[in-house]
Amino acid sequence: MTKKFVDIMRTDHSHWVGDGFRVRSLFSYNGDTSVISPFLLLDYGDPTFFPPNEGAPRGVGQHPHRGFETVTIVYDGEVSHRDSHGGGGTIGKGDVQWMTAGSGVIHEEFHSKAYSEKGGPFRMVQLWVNLPAKDKMAPPRYQAILNQEIPVVDIEGGKARLIAGETSGTKGPASTFTPINIWDVTLDRTGDVTLDLPDGHTSLVVVMSGRIYVGDRWVNAGEIARYSVEGEGASFTAGEDVRLLVLTGEPIDEPVVGHGPFVMNTREEIMQAFQDFQSGQFGQMPV
Ligand code: MN
Repeated sequence: MTKKFVDIMRTDHSHWVGDGFRVRSLFSYNGDTSVISPFLLLDYGDPTFFPPNEGAPRGVGQHPHRGFETVTIVYDGEVSHRDSHGGGGTIGKGDVQWMTAGSGVIHEEFHSKAYSEKGGPFRMVQLWVNLPAKDKMAPPRYQAILNQEIPVVDIEGGKARLIAGETSGTKGPASTFTPINIWDVTLDRTGDVTLDLPDGHTSLVVVMSGRIYVGDRWVNAGEIARYSVEGEGASFTAGEDVRLLVLTGEPIDEPVVGHGPFVMNTREEIMQAFQDFQSGQFGQMPV
């Protein structure tokens, strides 16, 4: 039995994160988290063109996180990151930054200086991945996953860059706490396609460009086709020039209590996160 198409997740509402990232939150932990678990939030960046900027690079300044991971995928432009645990670096087209906030980090996210001065097309996606209760206070970690480290495998209808997870015996480089697939899929033909998605995983197919036809509906760029957890494989009909971000993961069956930059299991743990942050326990940004 293949997975059933369940619904389309979308929003017209876009907002700025700092002054560097114009995004639409296609899902978030403020909604029904059971249907997106183990994921918490997806900020989908619409393609944006930034002119050359001689001032300070755009972006978002120091802010904390606790209890989950942020995964930033760059399609165009460059993002620079620094955090209070010594993690940092610049990622560009095709690269991914995987930050485990765990017990707590303070970080900042900006356009790189080089990109900022030159300007040009900019496009990124940021995904928040939940941690199981037992790992929410894990030590912070920073994985820079560069384009050339990401294996490309042939799949039905095209190619998949495996950022995390596996298919056809090939594994992606990201180290994850729970079973997750993150694939950057480019299709090279139109017509019927079945993606080899595992039974028992929440299965979200984010359309990055082009469109797919599923369940008598077109799913356009900036929209997500959500499939059932049960079943193996997700089918659709591809239009032209389709690029997808495929997200699957084993649901984490635990309560989710989120407030701003913290996502924990109880209200008390959120209060504790604010207290620990305010008393300096998330460390200091390097000078
Ligand atoms: Mn952040």
